[in-house]
Amino acid sequence: NLSERLTLVSSFIASGAYFADIGSDHAYLPIYVCQKDLTAKGIAGELNQGPYEAALTHVAGNQLTDRISVRKGNGLSVIEEEPVDTVVICGMGGGLIKTILDEGEKHLKNVTRLVLQPNIDSHYLRAWLVSHHYELVSEEILKEDGHIYEILVADKVAEDISLTDKAQLFGPFLLKQSSDIFKEKWQREKLNIERVIKEMSKAKVINQEKLQSFQTQLAWIKEVLKDDD
Ligand code: SAM
Repeated sequence: NLSERLTLVSSFIASGAYFADIGSDHAYLPIYVCQKDLTAKGIAGELNQGPYEAALTHVAGNQLTDRISVRKGNGLSVIEEEPVDTVVICGMGGGLIKTILDEGEKHLKNVTRLVLQPNIDSHYLRAWLVSHHYELVSEEILKEDGHIYEILVADKVAEDISLTDKAQLFGPFLLKQSSDIFKEKWQREKLNIERVIKEMSKAKVINQEKLQSFQTQLAWIKEVLKDDD
């Protein structure tokens, strides 16, 4: 059974999509998508030999070799000339996903939708999306096996877009919903930031700029949690 996390990710892949799942591991996501949607086609990209072989085995075992091409390579470089319209990158840190997008930007020519699931640091991705003409159309937050995950869905647009620093940190849709899981996440982050601020204040040489930025974040978090202590 596919995890709740990847099932939710799959719901943002349009019917008939030509998608690429980067860092596909066992190719569970592309297999699930192609089993549900007989018009979908996909590429499963993997950097590492072990997961690449696991993907090959699983795709062949599910008789999907004609619709899922398993490719070994770094990031978006596995997308060649085929008209991939949707790119999915899940289960990595936001920093690594951003690096993959930056390094492979030229492979995104026909890509109208990005579905990203960063385990941490989603604000890097919101900043990247804004500066690359991808507009957030949906965000999800969920908890599975004790971990809290975010899903960001963005579509290519022609016009310039903007997002405030606060919206980049929290996510505009997630902030608006302010679900219990969202609050739980920011409760955890609040403790982390408070600890960091305490450590920084004890240092011999204080980086005022950095300290200020953490203090601003902490103030936003308190506001969001409606918590004044
Ligand atoms: N996407 C799956 C998921 O969400 O369950 C697997 C996530 S797994 C934690 C991350 C996978 O990304 C690993 O299989 C790893 O080999 C692969 N990976 C890491 N860096 C990569 C890169 N630059 N290009 C392609 N795959 C990469």
